[in-house]
Amino acid sequence: MIDFRSDTVTTPCAKMRAAMANAVVGDDVYGDDPTVNALESWSAERHGFEAALFCSSGTQANLLALMSHCERGDEYLCGQQAHNYQFEGGGAAVLGSIQPQPIENEPDGTLSLSKLKKAIKPDDYHFARTKLISIENTINGKVLPLNYLAQVREFAEGEGLALHLDGARVYNAAIALGVDIKEIAKYFDTMTVCLSKGLGAPIGSLLFGSKAFIAKARRWRKVLGGGMRQAGILAAAAEIALQDNIARLNDDHVNAKYLAEQLNQVEGFKVNTSFVETNMVFASLSANLSAEEIANKLSNQGILISAGNPLRLVTHLNISQSDIDSLIRELQLIVA
Ligand SMILES: *Cc1c(COP(=O)(O)O)cnc(C)c1O
Repeated sequence: MIDFRSDTVTTPCAKMRAAMANAVVGDDVYGDDPTVNALESWSAERHGFEAALFCSSGTQANLLALMSHCERGDEYLCGQQAHNYQFEGGGAAVLGSIQPQPIENEPDGTLSLSKLKKAIKPDDYHFARTKLISIENTINGKVLPLNYLAQVREFAEGEGLALHLDGARVYNAAIALGVDIKEIAKYFDTMTVCLSKGLGAPIGSLLFGSKAFIAKARRWRKVLGGGMRQAGILAAAAEIALQDNIARLNDDHVNAKYLAEQLNQVEGFKVNTSFVETNMVFASLSANLSAEEIANKLSNQGILISAGNPLRLVTHLNISQSDIDSLIRELQLIVA
């Protein structure tokens, strides 16, 4: 199967599987798993934070961040398109009694500072208490500029708000910008990173922050049922993801650009190639084409896409240029 649905579909390589099989483990809830402890300690340093917490998923890591920044009756400001607003089951509200305050994203994915400013509630018991700004990078494949990150940092400080980054794909941003991860991370109080997307680990995300913050998040992780025992099996794969699979994200970006150009050669498909900054391609379909029908026909040929208009196609370590050629060939046949 050639799978363009998401970079979450990547499977662990032989080296990861071997490392998992041989990982030295202990009970991580007792703090006894040496592989988890090593991952948390070196990854914190590498990302420029005091401490890190290994979590079961990006959703859990974001929820822990929101619950550790905010108390019951507090709120966080985020984008209308934010994953931790739209796609995490409303976890902050459901489980944390935290109110989201979404703000329309600008076309480049940023949140306007003047719109943020307007959304901050006065200190008055009619209102939820605004505590946190949460932004996302990359967002729908777009990279937030570093000078925007500097501005939002200064703004958050001026307003006395904490700043969180949902960095599920922050390494795609770092590679696209050609900067070290710390050049992005340094603007944030806390940050999450998904290891199970383009980085290719089977399971796991990291949450970064200060020592005190991570201690609080560790407590919430246990409350939420996320205290994993011999989690070193997973941390061993995570370590390889962070060591081996970062520089190669550039291949995914090159492939995404190639895919975008090739899709523009298919009748009825239109991609704005200048929007393709990382590993996501959005193609709009002309009215005579049905995304469902195309997805069904492709799946009969062993190619998976998510139906939608625009179509979202994602490149990753299990997609090669010849896989893209296969997709284009099949699409040409379907539209002919
Ligand atoms: C995938 C994703 C998450 C959540 O990660 P899961 O591991 O799937 O729970 C959070 N934020 C963004 C931006 C994502 O793309």
